Amino acid sequence: MIGYEEARARVVGDCHPLDPVSVPLDGALGRVLAERVVAAEDVPPFANTAMDGYAVRSADIAGAAPGTPCRLRVIGTLPAGVAATTAVGHGEALRIMTGAPFPDGADAIAIVEVTEAQGDDVLIEAPARPGDHIRAAGEDIAAGSEVFAPGTVLGPGHVGVLASAALADVSVHPRARVGVLSTGDELVASGPLRPGQIRDSNRRALLGLLRRDGFDAVDLGIARDDEVVIRDALSGGTATCDALITSGGVSMGDFDYVKKVLDEIGDMAWMQVAIRPAKPLAFGLVGGVPVFGLPGNPVSSMVSYELFARPGLRRMSGHLDTDLDRPTIRGVTDSDMRRRPDGRVNYLRVVASFAADGRCHVTSAGGQGSHQLLAMAVANALAVIPSGDGMAPGHDVDVMILQ
Ligand code: AMP
Ligand code: MG
Repeated sequence: MIGYEEARARVVGDCHPLDPVSVPLDGALGRVLAERVVAAEDVPPFANTAMDGYAVRSADIAGAAPGTPCRLRVIGTLPAGVAATTAVGHGEALRIMTGAPFPDGADAIAIVEVTEAQGDDVLIEAPARPGDHIRAAGEDIAAGSEVFAPGTVLGPGHVGVLASAALADVSVHPRARVGVLSTGDELVASGPLRPGQIRDSNRRALLGLLRRDGFDAVDLGIARDDEVVIRDALSGGTATCDALITSGGVSMGDFDYVKKVLDEIGDMAWMQVAIRPAKPLAFGLVGGVPVFGLPGNPVSSMVSYELFARPGLRRMSGHLDTDLDRPTIRGVTDSDMRRRPDGRVNYLRVVASFAADGRCHVTSAGGQGSHQLLAMAVANALAVIPSGDGMAPGHDVDVMILQ
């Protein structure tokens, strides 16, 4: 057996970032920037008012107070979206709406709440300081400045910023296109079960994990335990995808042909990782395409995805090496997590929640067998229990958050 860190490093080291592509902003959400982005324009592009009110010379209303207002002559009204053409002179005010360009001559906004229109004049009941309620050009982002660094994951706000800074296309790493193949004579996709058959759940779960994590998931169906069928499926998959995930057929069984075929067509490492579940892991390159041979047991395949495939695929999609893994935080056990020492780290399926004491409390999500998918479905975290005697309730525990 090898340790988790060693196995993970081996996988991640062979998953290289995909070549950048230029995409329109519409396709940029969730992608990772491949180059620094420099603002093409000032944001905001011109000085404008942050409030509805009157653009004034602050000196004109220095003595304004409730009961003793200053009277100014209103020279016009400026809505947003219209250029300011008239300058504001001594004794004058320009009625102005939020977002309208700030006119020459004035140096402050008297907000509408402290004013009262009176014919062609306005009475202002409070002073303003120079600069009050004026948003300067480039105050948020200056033209030519770096907006985002390579490795930035583009969220909705980032896409908004790119739009505001006049960037129509950005260079990003593509989302990895990942094929998912189930293997096993016992598997059926739908319809009634014949004796000995089970339903293929891994494919649905793995496709779901990939889609949730923003990858481009491709359903490659089920391959029977037959060398030719498996070879065709694997070669077809590696020809059209950036990476492949298979489940089943990588253990020590008589019909585990995935192992045999991958050894023939790929450069594979067969690992026994010191963890539970998901001890067996096959990983290697077939024609340069990373192939993750995950174990067949439903919980094992999902945990193996989280621990190995997800970090590797994130690296391919351009995520920084510091941003590949699920976060692990310190929590406290609410249920009994005692165990026996056997050299393997246990990843228990747990429900984690923050309690009034400010701590993350974890409790078992149900049956912990590697075939008991229900607990994995209910879990939102994995409690990491090192080899040893485990933890009684109330003990500190590392918690890997899955959401
Ligand atoms: P294997 O790794 O092929 O020996 O499979 C280990 C266990 O996982 C067996 O009980 C299989 O029936 C089960 N299994 C394999 N593939 C799937 C799948 N796609 N969906 C559900 N169970 C599976
Ligand atoms: Mg099998």
